[in-house]
Amino acid sequence: MADVKYKRIMLKLSGEALAGDKGFGINPPVIKTVAEEVKSVYNLGIQIAIVVGGGNMWRGVSGEQMGMERAQADYIGMLATIMNALALQDNLESIGVPTRVQTSIEMRQIAEPYIRRKAIRHLEKERVVIFAGGTGSPYFSTDTTAALRAAEINADAILMAKNGVDGIYSADPNKDPDAVKFDQLTQLDIINKGLHVMDTTASSLSMDNDIPFVVFNLNESGNIRKVVEGENIGTTVRGK
Ligand code: UDP
Repeated sequence: MADVKYKRIMLKLSGEALAGDKGFGINPPVIKTVAEEVKSVYNLGIQIAIVVGGGNMWRGVSGEQMGMERAQADYIGMLATIMNALALQDNLESIGVPTRVQTSIEMRQIAEPYIRRKAIRHLEKERVVIFAGGTGSPYFSTDTTAALRAAEINADAILMAKNGVDGIYSADPNKDPDAVKFDQLTQLDIINKGLHVMDTTASSLSMDNDIPFVVFNLNESGNIRKVVEGENIGTTVRGK
């Protein structure tokens, strides 16, 4: 294996990362590029687990705002993450990256059910494991899923890939010209400074389990690789 900082990573891809400019649906050239970025890291010999979101198709909160029952709306969101996972699997396999999709809600005809030990075994056998369906429970997010699965599989770090945002700022850089980017933060800094990075459940899970997370821009080619190799890009958040 190449000389790397993180040997087993949890990559969190939001649904948006697969959507491109329109922000909705799956954009074939965009998902292809994402798959190629993953492949370049895979070629380093890194073990890669991926949690994919579903916001490019459906968010439970929006369903609730339209008058749906929240839990029901959230299940639609979980199904959206499974569609994204299958599309990502297809793109990865078409460029020669072996993958397995595991769903938190059983769907045996199209994917394996989530089995922690089996997921770890796949990683050891150099297969990229895509966790789909979120946690399988409503009221959670795929950020929380990433933090949870990262702890379960003993990942070295959570890579929070963002669309066009290259890290955590003191304020919204699009609105505030004085916003400064942080290179390093602790989880407590995030709480004390009132920064909004990931939801609090996800953040406290990764803090409790002492798993660092790195927020970085997915839209710049080579960035996943740079994070894995320990280059100082984005913002790294540690427990203490
Ligand atoms: N979701 C859920 N439980 C989970 C993960 C996801 O209910 O454990 C639902 C929730 O409705 C959410 C949707 O799936 O809005 C899509 O996930 P998310 O918003 O996290 O996707 P992303 O913003 O990363 O694209």
